[in-house]
Amino acid sequence: AYVVADPCIKCKYTDCVEVCPVNCFYEGANFLVIHPDECIDCGACEPVCPTKAIFPETELPAQWQEYKALNADFSTKW
Ligand code: SF4
Repeated sequence: AYVVADPCIKCKYTDCVEVCPVNCFYEGANFLVIHPDECIDCGACEPVCPTKAIFPETELPAQWQEYKALNADFSTKW
């Protein structure tokens, strides 16, 4: 699955939400998150993110590894 990381915090754009074919973006505390089981790995959101906050899980930068759990937690709460 794709993961939303730190640069998304307080971002006001929702380009990613508009291009996602399966609507798997959810609102986190102050950033958007991707539901790990609903994401189909299409990759459409990554290039349209203005803050470059979206990464394939396997390419998530080391300093943002905790975002994997944050995406899972916030997206499955609802
Ligand atoms: Fe949605 Fe595709 Fe991005 Fe996954 S990779 S969150 S399915 S746009």
